Amino acid sequence: MTKNSIETKLVQLGNQSDPRTGAVNPPIYLSTAYKHTGIGESTGYDYIRTKNPTREILENGIAELEGGDAGFACSSGMAAIQLILSIFKPGDEIILPEDVYGGTYRLLKSYNELYNIRPVYFSNAEQVEELINEKTKAIFLETPTNPLMIEFDLDYFNQICKKHNLMFIVDNTFYSPYFQRPIEHGADIVMHSGTKYIAGHNDTLAGLVVSKGKELSEKLAYNQNSMGLVLSPFDSWLVIRGLKTLHLRMKQHDENAKRVVKFLKEEPLVTDVLYTGKGGMLSFKLQKSDLVNPFLKKMKLITFAESLGGPESFITYPATQTHADIPYEERVARGVDDCLLRFSVGLENAEDIIADLKQVFNQLREEQ
Ligand SMILES: *Cc1c(COP(=O)(O)O)cnc(C)c1O
Repeated sequence: MTKNSIETKLVQLGNQSDPRTGAVNPPIYLSTAYKHTGIGESTGYDYIRTKNPTREILENGIAELEGGDAGFACSSGMAAIQLILSIFKPGDEIILPEDVYGGTYRLLKSYNELYNIRPVYFSNAEQVEELINEKTKAIFLETPTNPLMIEFDLDYFNQICKKHNLMFIVDNTFYSPYFQRPIEHGADIVMHSGTKYIAGHNDTLAGLVVSKGKELSEKLAYNQNSMGLVLSPFDSWLVIRGLKTLHLRMKQHDENAKRVVKFLKEEPLVTDVLYTGKGGMLSFKLQKSDLVNPFLKKMKLITFAESLGGPESFITYPATQTHADIPYEERVARGVDDCLLRFSVGLENAEDIIADLKQVFNQLREEQ
């Protein structure tokens, strides 16, 4: 399969992968070991950690979707980030946006303490170059950011990376390859929390890494195997199943989010609506932090829960959930204040989502 469109690649993932039986849906290979017919003779599969046929379909699939050379399926998004961090050495510095996923912030804090691999955060994209020194090895972007929905220009960052010989890494969790393919803009590594839009059903924990370039891909393959940062065959199959409808889901998430944004912008109890203009993620601020708990308690359809990218609409409270590990002053200075809610707009009928929001706001108004 070469020049197929993304929709076709997604739908066809895993089909025609099992010539022996012709299975349309790829089998889940649970076997941990494969028979050798003699010394040095292998089918290409030896031991499950190194290579597994089901995982391989997912890994090749995500590499093709992102336009990279190799894909790696890991046990979680955080395991995917650890796989990426495995290529750095003590003394190295990595530049990241200040508004980064809370788990990434927490992991980098311990990498700094344990291994002297140091995160350096920027608040203004125009001042990034001032942070670069001889220790700087990479820029790790999240775009759009979580939860403030700041969108960065990939070409601008790629140009800085190339100029200073830095690795360009992008967390593409929020947009997925349907809306954004960073490798086409020069990124060396793209990663996903596969738990979110990629698997897309709020039922699987997974992480994905895609790399560009032979040497980098070989290094990551070596480290993935030696560290055991792999996804199980069953979970690999669930992610494949989820991917088959990614395009349909992203289209509907996007359409529903746009309708919700329009509604929230007209609601007087909402002071800010943060949305990039595409995708299913948005954030908004309530007039007062005192309104947050009653707001969350009154929702009937929308679930107060800590994740995103599934069919069910979720609202998250970053202050106590995703960003709880960032000290209060630092968190508020970064714009993640106590009035901010993050909304993963689901695949329900948009009118029903809006009706739920309406009944919540009406009750809040009556109680004021
Ligand atoms: C959830 C998330 C992660 C971490 O992924 P897990 O699958 O939960 O380990 C990393 N980055 C972003 C942007 C996320 O939303």
